[in-house]
Amino acid sequence: MSETRRHPAHPLVALLAVLALTAIGCSMQGGSADPRTSSASPPSDGGPRAAPNPHLGREVPPQGGGAAESTSAPASSAAPSPSTVGPQARPPVSDTLVRSTAGSGRRVALTFDDGPSAEWTPKILDLLDRYGVKATFCVVGEQARAYPALVRKIVAKGHRLCDHTETHDERLARMPEDQVRKQIGGARDAILAAAPDAELEWFRAPGGGWSSAIKKVAVGYGMKPLDWSVDSRDWERKGVDTIVATVQRQLRPGGVVLMHDGGGERSQSVAALARLLPWLVQQGYSFDYPG
Ligand SMILES: [Zn+2]
Repeated sequence: MSETRRHPAHPLVALLAVLALTAIGCSMQGGSADPRTSSASPPSDGGPRAAPNPHLGREVPPQGGGAAESTSAPASSAAPSPSTVGPQARPPVSDTLVRSTAGSGRRVALTFDDGPSAEWTPKILDLLDRYGVKATFCVVGEQARAYPALVRKIVAKGHRLCDHTETHDERLARMPEDQVRKQIGGARDAILAAAPDAELEWFRAPGGGWSSAIKKVAVGYGMKPLDWSVDSRDWERKGVDTIVATVQRQLRPGGVVLMHDGGGERSQSVAALARLLPWLVQQGYSFDYPG
């Protein structure tokens, strides 16, 4: 563009034109580029995204399929949309069984089923605390009604909750939809009565027995059907060595591990977790929620 403007014949005019163009060029480089980028960046890493953080709840799952660093990546392109990342943002829920972590890489999601238990859940929570690990608890409705303070404690420590039916009836997959709805909705009511601010992102079928009705009802509540990739079989109580070895043998990066904090005597589960946590850390695993 500047070349075509040098037509004027008078040297003085030409000189003035050059000076003027140079000045404009400078101001364009230094001036307009800056405001544009700086007006784009502050909103993206500023206030609006900071607000959901205390609830570690919504940040990871919506973009979960992406790279390991996806938590920070959306910020650069999200400048116009912080308001949509807020409380109303609800990712569409798929009925595909979840068997992997939200993020990719060398991650593991620990899940604990059938609690809360007055005896075992606090021991599991203490162990997780010791390693700064966040996990997911699949809570049974009638247990949540019996121990609402424990449900709140789980949430207060930054762990997440999963609906695991009202009574843990393993015939759920053969039940008609209205009964399935009672089982799933009943537990949901109990959990949210205990911890109204909790976000229930997942539902897990008792014994991992799924049906289309179960998935339909769970998804209807906005809960993803949560399965697992590693069954510790801790409920068999075949000894701490066996539980630890089973997990060590089956675990791959991105795995979801099934263990139990309720539903029976869980001293072996607690002891196995006490050995698995340092092993996982030593193996370079970081801890995530299910995807
Ligand atoms: Zn269970």
